[in-house]
Amino acid sequence: MSKTILITGASRGIGRAAAVLAGRRGWSVGVNYANNRAAAEEVVGLVAEAGGRAVAIQGDVAIEADVISAFDQTERTFGPLDGVVANAGIVGEKQLLAEMSAERMRRMFEVNVLGAYLCAREAARRLPTSLGGRGGSIVLVSSVAARLGSPFEYIDYAGSKAAVDTLALGLSKELGAEGVRVNAVRPGVTETDIHASGGQPDRAQRVGTMTPFGRAGRPEEVAEAIVWLLSDASSYVSGALLDVSGGR
Ligand code: NAP
Repeated sequence: MSKTILITGASRGIGRAAAVLAGRRGWSVGVNYANNRAAAEEVVGLVAEAGGRAVAIQGDVAIEADVISAFDQTERTFGPLDGVVANAGIVGEKQLLAEMSAERMRRMFEVNVLGAYLCAREAARRLPTSLGGRGGSIVLVSSVAARLGSPFEYIDYAGSKAAVDTLALGLSKELGAEGVRVNAVRPGVTETDIHASGGQPDRAQRVGTMTPFGRAGRPEEVAEAIVWLLSDASSYVSGALLDVSGGR
């Protein structure tokens, strides 16, 4: 069945791979991005090439009006939503907690926690069957950092992802009778730009060699789990925290 979905942070990395995979299923995709319009437009083209439809939507997930607007634009373009992927996220530079500024921690929690909660809230206002929605699936992109704690690197990031896990646990119960499933995918170290943005461009390769598989994951491997959770194939799965971490 064709679906309409919104993916935040879909211009690069894991979100981009999920958008392209959704395109292969013929789905319609709202491709949210923060700054990189050219990358988002490229993803729109790739989704179309794959057999789906897409629209690029600028917006900062930490800003409530931007989140609402991203939902509105997706629904105006493609019709009612069936799924939402709260994927946009940031890391910070490698620091001890003792070194972190309040400003850094505030931005971390604004994007990773408030952003995910606003997206989930907006989905919870639109997808439930009792509110006239079609039911559907909410996928939150967390991280194995939520259970590892990321000591000596970014404890703030790890804590932000623990809040995302808890969102999946609670909201899945609130929406269970509404035809809406809520799950979190927890990637391990994955080959994307996020590591360079935190000042460690070699991190995926370095940490990857220390995992049971001896390598980092690819964004496409995480996308498979996201799209499965969006699809009807996972119809009895809700409240799950699915690690895609090569056994780490
Ligand atoms: P990435 O390659 O750095 O891409 C980040 C994406 O998020 C980009 O599309 C970016 O848009 C967008 N974005 C950043 N801040 C945003 C904001 N405030 N509002 C809207 N969009 C925003 O990241 P990634 O590695 O694919 O990470 C995706 C998710 O997976 C994140 O939640 C991350 O924490 C999680 N994760 C990643 C790894 C990993 O090793 N890569 C591991 C565990 C979990 P622009 O292109 O416009 O900047």
